[in-house]
Amino acid sequence: MESSRQSEPRARATALETEARTASKATKTSEPPPKDIEPLKPKPISTKPDESPKEGSVTPADDWTEFSRGDPDSPRIALTFDAGWENKPGDKILDVLAKHHVRSTFFLTGRWVEKNPDLTRRISSEGHEIGNHTWSHKRLTKLSAMQITEETDKAEKIIVNLTSKSTKPLLRVPYGERDKRVLSTLAKLGYRSIYWDEDCWDSVKPNVTPAEIEARVTAKTRNGSVVLMHIGSKATADALDSILERLQAAGFQPVTVGELLNN
Ligand SMILES: [Zn+2]
Repeated sequence: MESSRQSEPRARATALETEARTASKATKTSEPPPKDIEPLKPKPISTKPDESPKEGSVTPADDWTEFSRGDPDSPRIALTFDAGWENKPGDKILDVLAKHHVRSTFFLTGRWVEKNPDLTRRISSEGHEIGNHTWSHKRLTKLSAMQITEETDKAEKIIVNLTSKSTKPLLRVPYGERDKRVLSTLAKLGYRSIYWDEDCWDSVKPNVTPAEIEARVTAKTRNGSVVLMHIGSKATADALDSILERLQAAGFQPVTVGELLNN
């Protein structure tokens, strides 16, 4: 993976990299705008390198808390799946999770739910947890408090209508882009930002293969890990069976984010 990492443009780094660097000097993690997985086209990063929040712009404060890792002394981990646009690998991901008796957390956009009501119901009825990924996957740092409220409320409503379950307090910010104002606004709305400490790179690395995803996830997962994956990634769907086999054999216990929070 080292050689592929070098091909990642430096400017792709987002606020998340700040955290990743803190966690491990060797880890370069970012959530650049995914390509075909997410509803929004990535902005040409090379032309706007300063768009990413500056290092240090997201630091823990008294008025909000962000969750990105569970108990470092517990083998419990959470695989999380974000949904943007694609849906095709969704059923396969659910089949594999069921095979391994694993329940996960899915962060769904309202638009995705609108297009995939059956898959959304299946996610919920099979015991998985659904978190809010906003209605249309906009960059929350660019939105007013009122727009953020609309984005989250609209997604919450359609998910509650389909599943009878609220997404609160689980929310994943689109593109991982947040700042203190966004997090405060979300907190007032009853949401807690659920970040990750491990990005499987299924939305980052062009043409990533299942073997690469498997190698990365199995190498990086540690106690309490929250792993970022995407429901629209065929490579992730293809890698998941082996990943779960190996993680479980190593003693990790995949649970939902909610279970990790209440650990
Ligand atoms: Zn997303």
